[in-house]
Amino acid sequence: MRYPTVVILIDALGFVLAERSGFHPDGLSHRIRLRTVPGFSQPALSSIFTGVPPDKHGLWMMYSFTRDKSPFRWLSIIPKDVSEKRLWLKRIINWKLKRIDRVRSYYNLYDIPRKVLRYLDLPARRNIFMPEGIEGMNTVIDELSRRGSRIFVRDYHTPEAMAFDQLEEAFEKGDADFYLLYTAELDADLHKYGTTHENIKAHLNWYSERIENLLSINKEIKMLVFGDHGMCDVHGSLSIIDKIESLNLKIPQDYIPFYDSTIARFRVYSEKAERKIIDTLSDLSSGVILDDNEKKKLGIDYADPIYGDIIFLVNPGEIILPSYMSAEPVAGMHGYHPDNEGMFSSMYTNVDFGVEDASIMDIADFILPGFKSEKRG
Ligand SMILES: [Zn+2]
Repeated sequence: MRYPTVVILIDALGFVLAERSGFHPDGLSHRIRLRTVPGFSQPALSSIFTGVPPDKHGLWMMYSFTRDKSPFRWLSIIPKDVSEKRLWLKRIINWKLKRIDRVRSYYNLYDIPRKVLRYLDLPARRNIFMPEGIEGMNTVIDELSRRGSRIFVRDYHTPEAMAFDQLEEAFEKGDADFYLLYTAELDADLHKYGTTHENIKAHLNWYSERIENLLSINKEIKMLVFGDHGMCDVHGSLSIIDKIESLNLKIPQDYIPFYDSTIARFRVYSEKAERKIIDTLSDLSSGVILDDNEKKKLGIDYADPIYGDIIFLVNPGEIILPSYMSAEPVAGMHGYHPDNEGMFSSMYTNVDFGVEDASIMDIADFILPGFKSEKRG
């Protein structure tokens, strides 16, 4: 590699948001609008580092369905009257996942009820920002490490101000050939305040300063600043859980549900469940059931329906409430259809890639020209 590469990955750096807030760090003269993939950060980050859609790298949602291989199966021995919200229970679940199941990926137990958690699996077990971060699939980080590049990574484990400090220090010393900083703190602010709050603009200005400061240390670098998806302001909510639960279907004999903020998914095991759930969802005006053709186009067409047989996608600006994520409303949300204007992300770079529009799946090739992800044996 001729120049060191610096990648600043700001979760939820949306195209519309950046434009409206006047975010455009000096020295990064090229801007590219990036189309994302459906779902939340896990599939987006996996598609960024592999260059392939979620049904190729295998990681779509944080939780997949399984009736017999769940790392939460042991929860059946805990008495039913113990709430999953009890701190000691959450601590044991987390301990078991880290120590026994060796989960190194980002996950959260949120408010998932125990009756459902017992039939869920965590398909991503590794830290995506490190070499061999995706099971069975090569990432750009794998390829860089195979080529002997010295790699510097700071991810969500380090608070972003500290991560920028440490990046600057390493960069000044020339410690690495490839620097990667990932932060989810803008995403957290956007969920909390929405996209138009003054804190957001201030946060973006702060990123600009940190980025311009890095460029002032050394301009002889290849720098890529980008996000994984955008963000929409939330203006309404819909309730699904009570409607489905009133159908008198049994978990797990008939179905297993998962209610994310913008996506409701169902693995169905009986014809009765399939019919009743589809009928109920079809009556809702706040979203659509994705058909097979749409799943193919969106890159979430799994031969084995581990993420569900029925996928209901909520309209932009609305959220499922309550969901397994939260019982409280939020100001901003993502995870809508990638064609929605608010879902596009943005890239700022000092390299002319000759495009103004691209997909987050093109980023791996921007980082390492010619990179092709391959299945790893
Ligand atoms: Zn988010």
